[in-house]
Amino acid sequence: MPIQEVKHIWRNGEMIPWADATTHVLTHAIHYGTSVFEGMRAYDTKHKGVCIFRNRDHIERFFFSARVYRIGMPHSVEDIMQACCDVVRENELSSAYIRPVAFLGYGEMGPSSTAVKSDIAIAAFPWGAYLGEEGLDKGVDVAFSSWRRMAPGTIPSGVKAGGNYLSSRLVSMEAKDNGYAEGLGLAHDGTVSEGAGENLFVITKGRIVTPPTSSSILNGITRDTVMTLAKKLGYEVIEQSIPREALYAADEIFMTGTAAEVTPVRSVDKLPVNQPDFPITKQIQRAFFGLFSGETEDEWGWLDPIG
Ligand code: PMP
Repeated sequence: MPIQEVKHIWRNGEMIPWADATTHVLTHAIHYGTSVFEGMRAYDTKHKGVCIFRNRDHIERFFFSARVYRIGMPHSVEDIMQACCDVVRENELSSAYIRPVAFLGYGEMGPSSTAVKSDIAIAAFPWGAYLGEEGLDKGVDVAFSSWRRMAPGTIPSGVKAGGNYLSSRLVSMEAKDNGYAEGLGLAHDGTVSEGAGENLFVITKGRIVTPPTSSSILNGITRDTVMTLAKKLGYEVIEQSIPREALYAADEIFMTGTAAEVTPVRSVDKLPVNQPDFPITKQIQRAFFGLFSGETEDEWGWLDPIG
């Protein structure tokens, strides 16, 4: 998806022109994958103006990711949350995808270098539905990749690091080459893990099941949102490891993510789900988008107005 340029990017505490947000070719992160990032959205809500969705939860995960790879964060969580609001406002965006990134910069080579300084930036730009508007409504066709996700004890899947997306690239490229909208990955043990950039939910006989964090997934914030909303709607939601064939017996399947929001799955490996009108998924999707229209009450304080 092409990036739509806007005026400014926040970098290390300052708002700078978009074109000036460059970096040296010997930047540590380019060689060793030492970057961590977030993907967040701002919505033009009907009742609270432009709001960032779950700003604090994303920025707390951002700091956690940086902590694991010892990427210094010389700012507070609150400062970065504020900077996210500022960059949306400064660029006069009414809805946006927001991309905070922290990476090890220029100055030293070697993967274990501790002297190299971190560089922190936040960009915001317009972005529509990741898997398409039609996908949100009619569902998408997905397939399992021949690539497994990272096994526990290799590279942590629960940390949102740039390097993890080498796996996502392989999974997603393979699927797209074969004509699917997105690729799914199996965990090291052959159970279901997640999509290349989405968590996965499987509905059978009214029970909603999603793989646990030990199945090599990113502990998604949309996943948590959907689990909360589905329980509120009266559904049983279970975190449980899922065998691949369970997807071929499913009444409904959907994927969640900041980019993908709540996207129904129409088929897996060419086998259609039992309920092609996605009744429960649609109910959850309405509750999710209702947070931004005001139809779903935000009891959890998830909407952060940019001010
Ligand atoms: N899994 C992966 C691999 C992802 O990249 C994403 C998107 N960040 C998700 C799951 C969903 O996470 P979230 O809901 O926090 O965006």
